[in-house]
Amino acid sequence: MLSRDYTSNGMNQELRKCQNCKAGFIIEPEDFLFYEKIKVPPPTWCPECRLLVVGQMGSDAIWQGL
Ligand SMILES: [Zn+2]
Repeated sequence: MLSRDYTSNGMNQELRKCQNCKAGFIIEPEDFLFYEKIKVPPPTWCPECRLLVVGQMGSDAIWQGL
């Protein structure tokens, strides 16, 4: 009775706390692969804050590890 969700509970999934709004957010294993691929550190900000910053600063924000 294993669902597809079984694999998303793997040990690579990481719970982080946003350095901006202090909300908890999860980085999925495939997200780690993505950041590794584009050679930027995993984010320290939650997706919502990152969207706000990218909206203000442009896509350069992602290169600063936000
Ligand atoms: Zn946030």
